Amino acid sequence: DTATVSHSFQAEVSELLHLMVHSVYSETDIFLRELISNASDACDKLRYEAIAKPELIGEGEAPQIRVIPSKAASTLTIADSGIGMDRQELIDHLGTIARSGTKAFVQRLSEAKDGSGLIGQFGVGFYSAFMVADRIVVISRRAGGDEVWTWTSSGGAGFEVAPASEEDAKRVTRGTEIVLHLKDDAKKYLETYEIERIVTAYSDNIQFPIMLVPEEGEPRQINSASALWQRSKSELTPEDYTKAYKSIAHAFDEPAMTLHYRAEGRYSYAVLLFAPSTKPFDLFEPARKGKVKLYVRRVFITDDADLLPAYLRFVRGVIDSEDLPLNISREMLQNNPQLAQIRKAVTTRVISELEQLAEKDAANFDKIWDSFGAVIKEGLYEDFERRDKLLALARFTTTSGEKRSLKQYVEGLKENQTEIYFLVGDSIERLKSNPRLEAAKARGVEVLLLTDPVDAFWTSARLEFDGKPLKSLSQGDINFDPIPLSEEQKAEDEAKPAADEADTIALIKASLGDHVTDVKVSTRLTTSASCLVAGSHGPDRELERILSQQAR
Ligand code: ADP
Ligand code: MG
Repeated sequence: DTATVSHSFQAEVSELLHLMVHSVYSETDIFLRELISNASDACDKLRYEAIAKPELIGEGEAPQIRVIPSKAASTLTIADSGIGMDRQELIDHLGTIARSGTKAFVQRLSEAKDGSGLIGQFGVGFYSAFMVADRIVVISRRAGGDEVWTWTSSGGAGFEVAPASEEDAKRVTRGTEIVLHLKDDAKKYLETYEIERIVTAYSDNIQFPIMLVPEEGEPRQINSASALWQRSKSELTPEDYTKAYKSIAHAFDEPAMTLHYRAEGRYSYAVLLFAPSTKPFDLFEPARKGKVKLYVRRVFITDDADLLPAYLRFVRGVIDSEDLPLNISREMLQNNPQLAQIRKAVTTRVISELEQLAEKDAANFDKIWDSFGAVIKEGLYEDFERRDKLLALARFTTTSGEKRSLKQYVEGLKENQTEIYFLVGDSIERLKSNPRLEAAKARGVEVLLLTDPVDAFWTSARLEFDGKPLKSLSQGDINFDPIPLSEEQKAEDEAKPAADEADTIALIKASLGDHVTDVKVSTRLTTSASCLVAGSHGPDRELERILSQQAR
């Protein structure tokens, strides 16, 4: 066929396919979830584009997904009447890896000996179908398009793209058909009960009807296709929420927090949000993008509307507005005052929910803090309005060896202690041997040991908690004299001879000259002879160090 053109896969795709084909991964079921999720995305995209161009749907069928097993042909077909792909889109989207998740997966893969354990943790998308199929044919017509193209691959080095046969072109009036030629050991996916089991487990929350088209008998819908967030809390079980979380967030873990409510009033909207219990790979990507999905009256609009501040970007879920216009463009969303209101109200609600969780379910709160505390702390210098609340939520490793809140810290203040002390550094171990801790240790004063990169930033803002300033032990003058020494320290000091301070200082100043601004006697040290500190007004020494590293 002269119209057939062969293409090579991007190197990462070949690597991924190699793994798929040779995988010993047993949970192959996920391929169906991935293909149905793509079909659902395609239906979402069509519904969104059809707001401006209703003719894209026109007299055609409403967006839906069909799963069609054929024992005769040993094929399983996943068809959707969504947006479809034109020739170039087939080449671009099914020949490269665009999404960062899959990229991260491939990167990890080259490090791991056996990558199969990783498949379950990352959604590996379309290519996961090669776990069950030795040949895949994709037939697609872009909505509104005249041409129908086929993409064919056996999972090796490349794929072929050709115009569809007349018969295929006639059948595919809009959207995409993915035909999987099943491997011998994957024939179970032709059984209707297997298909139903998987769809119920993974894809029940898909918004569009998923129709099972058996070889004999009538097609029937096998998902509930309800917008779960529109239902009332009392109808829903924890399992319903966990399932919704996994399908909406494309997640594999359990949610550590679920927030479901309906706001009525000036604006009406439904909110269903989750905090994951484990850290995703892309948490610290420079774009700091959130992924909460915006719906308008149950129509998906975008997951790119920054519905929460960047420091809550780990939160997943849906906000479904009753009042926003359906034809709002993604660009217009940037400056929409109604959306700004929603953002503000939902942010406040998420934070108060975290506060409650910390009170009532410390185990789950700790999971969130351990995974996302470093992100939430970004809010300490970005969100002035909520700074005090965030500071109260924060948990810190301290010299006590425990994770503590500032409230707990303040409850344990020593006699005459009016400040909260901290040290910033690379690791708890290194901080523990820092000589600047000595004076605090001698008085039994607790010190926060801060080791996240973000700590150097928010601490430079000179915050207070409960009227007590946070003070770095590596900066400026700290007078520990008013705080009494611990009994052990007193005993130890009495055994030491007194030194002539003035003479010693004059001698050190003379020998260091311009290298230092001042030399002072300090109550900070008990066993070390000396230490360097930054002046009270300049940047913290740790911040200086980080800034100079970044400048390199
Ligand atoms: P992801 O869904 O995360 O983008 P996938 O590997 O699952 O990654 O899919 C890659 C891309 O292929 C999708 O982003 C989409 O552009 C395209 N695609 C896959 N399946 C379909 C489909 N059924 N209809 C339209 N486009 C699709
Ligand atoms: Mg996908």
